[in-house]
Formats: sequence, structure tokens, C-alpha cells
Amino acid sequence: MEKTLFQRICDQELPAQIVFQDDQVVAFRDINPQAPTHVLIVPRKPVVRIGEAQPDDHALLGHLLLKAAEVARTLGLEAGYRLVINNGPDGGEAVPHLHVHILGGRRMTWPPG
Ligand code: AMP
Repeated sequence: MEKTLFQRICDQELPAQIVFQDDQVVAFRDINPQAPTHVLIVPRKPVVRIGEAQPDDHALLGHLLLKAAEVARTLGLEAGYRLVINNGPDGGEAVPHLHVHILGGRRMTWPPG
């Protein structure tokens, strides 16, 4: 199966500004930032989207969220931040490899667009 764009970033076959990585997840700066700080954190395993995650992804998904919070702290987002997961066409998903957006550095609005 062909690698996803984000698998290629995880494997360092494509350039990215990586801010954190371990054996399960990689966090890198979004190429088209929507906030002063905009980082994506992805599992190395190519889970397609949250709606297709399986029960055996339980620990990985917990790790992904805990590391998202750790990365936000490391990036100095003490004033707050937003985590976003887009799922499917109506959810605004463009890349079919699960990713959590970490957005911060400005006041977020609600509801989102
Ligand atoms: P989504 O719409 O939730 O699927 O988000 C996909 C995100 O990936 C968008 O915010 C894009 O700007 C970002 N993106 C696409 N290609 C790259 C890349 N090569 N490096 C970093 N971010 C990317």
C-alpha cells in the first residue's frame, strides 16, 4: 500500500519542521498555519481517521492526546489552545491519516466555521 503524506513525513522522506517525536507519534508544524502556533500530531501508524480507529488503537489514541497536551505545554501555550480532529468530507478532512491539530497563540472563536 502506498504511504500517506504524513507517513512520509514521519519517515523523514518529506521535509517538515518536527517539534516532537517518539516511537508512536510525530508532531510537526502545519504548512499552512491557521494560528500563530499550528502543529499537527499524528500516529506513526496510518490510522485513516478517528471514525475508523479500532479497539486495538485504544492505547495509541490515549498516547496521541497526552502527547498533544505535552507538545502544547512545550510550545508555551499556557494561555490556552484548541485541539481539532477533522473527520470525513463534512468534517473538513483533507489528509486521510489521523491527525490532531494543535492551534494556539491567539484567542479562538466559537462556533468554529
Ligand atoms: P485536515 O484538513 O484536517 O485533513 O488537515 C490537513 C492539514 O495538513 C492542513 O492543515 C494542511 O495545511 C496540512 N498539511 C498538508 N500538507 C502538509 C505538509 N506537507 N506539511 C505540513 N502540513 C501539511
